[in-house]
Order: sequence, then structure tokens, then C-alpha cells
Amino acid sequence: MKQFYNYLCCWLCVISLNAMAVSDHAVQDLSIAIKQIAPGVWSHTSYYLYPNGVKFPSNGLIVRNGETLTLVDTAWGEVKTQKLLNEIKKQINLPVSHAVVTHAHSDRAAGVDILEAQGIEVWAHPLTKKLTVEYGLPVPNHVFSELEKNNSQVAFNNLQVLFPGPGHAMDNLMVWIAEQKILFGGCAVRATSAKSVGNVKHGDAHSWLAVTENIIKQFPQATLVVPGHGDVGGIELLSHTQSLLHVHLNTHALNKRQ
Ligand SMILES: [Zn+2]
Repeated sequence: MKQFYNYLCCWLCVISLNAMAVSDHAVQDLSIAIKQIAPGVWSHTSYYLYPNGVKFPSNGLIVRNGETLTLVDTAWGEVKTQKLLNEIKKQINLPVSHAVVTHAHSDRAAGVDILEAQGIEVWAHPLTKKLTVEYGLPVPNHVFSELEKNNSQVAFNNLQVLFPGPGHAMDNLMVWIAEQKILFGGCAVRATSAKSVGNVKHGDAHSWLAVTENIIKQFPQATLVVPGHGDVGGIELLSHTQSLLHVHLNTHALNKRQ
């Protein structure tokens, strides 16, 4: 049942993304793409193949902090997270010391046990810890008690971890890398290719709109914005997310009136 629930969470997380159809007989794609997007910052992308043959990409970050690395989000599965660590060793060759999980869905947290088994400290919002237990996902072993309130932030190595308030999920975190002016929005930021807000069943669309407007005001200097799924872009990803939320909320209000 738990596995089914995890599957459902994954599906709901990305249901409206433009999907890439593949063969019905295809097996899981274990490939991991690591791409340097700025000095000392790489994106990592893994893929999830649903039984109906639809494949979705999912992004996280790898950030250098001196002679160690901080991971933002696991790959989308345990085997893929081990593969991610192997690829980091091969391509970057620095140890991962810390990780941040940006909310309690399997595309962010499925590989937590793999990281913890290797002595990596895994940090998350207090609600993420609670929800991973509830959803039957691996549980992060450290929580940011400073991030209980909306619009809170905490320094974490050379990153700022933000809790802007509920959006795609009630516990969604973002990460700001001041030196490189990179914002990791996670699933609370939609890629240009996304045609809708996607899953808000575990979130709050009204709050998400306010969160997006605040983030636009707070980070006008962002040069790169990384969404949870799809291509990295600029600040326009935030206005795109804002437009999608307006459409979603207007449609929802219209449906209620009918
Ligand atoms: Zn999610």
C-alpha cells in the first residue's frame, strides 16, 4: 500500500508536465545527467518511467563547499541515488557531506536512506520529516527548526535554505546560492514547458501564488532559476509559474460558481 502511495505521489507531482512517451516494454532509465551550470554548481537529473511508458525528468543540485559537496534533493529512486553518488565520484571526485531534501515526495526524498547509509547528513523542514513517516518514504535525519515559519531562512554551508510558505507542497523549501545568484525553486517553480501548475493536492495554490510573488520581489537578481522538473531558465520561470497559478485559481473559482 505504501509503495502504491509513493507511486501516486510521484505521479501527482508531475502529472501535467509535457511527457515523453517511450516504448511500453522499456525498463527504468537509470541514467543520471550531471551538468555544470556555474563554477562549483551542477544540476543533476534523473528520470522516472511510469508503467504507462511515460518518462519524466527530475532535477536537483550539487554545490561545492570548499573540498566537500552539498546535494540538493536525491535522485528519483534508491538505485538512481546510488548511481548519482557514483557519477559524482567519477565526474567531480569530491565527497558529499550534506544534503537538503526540499519536500516529502519521492522525486526529492526516495534516496535518503542511501545517503544516510554513507554517513551523509540529510536535512529537511520539520514537516518533511513528519510527512515522510506518514507517506512511508525514507526519513531525513536532521530538521531545520529555524524554518517552521513562512518566509524563514537559514544559512547551510554556503547556501541559504528558504521556507517561503506552502506552495506545491506544504513543506516546500527553496535554496539560494548568493555567490552564483542561483535559485533552486524545486517543484514550487514550473519549467517553461509546463502547461499547468501540476499537482497541488498536497499543497496550497493560494499560498503558492503569494509565495511566487514574494520570491519575484526577493530575488530580482537571480541569473539562473532551477525548477524541479524541466529545463533551467531565468527569472521568467517565476512569472510563468505566477501565470499558471492565476489560470488555475481562476478556473477553480469558475468551477465552484457553476
Ligand atoms: Zn512534489
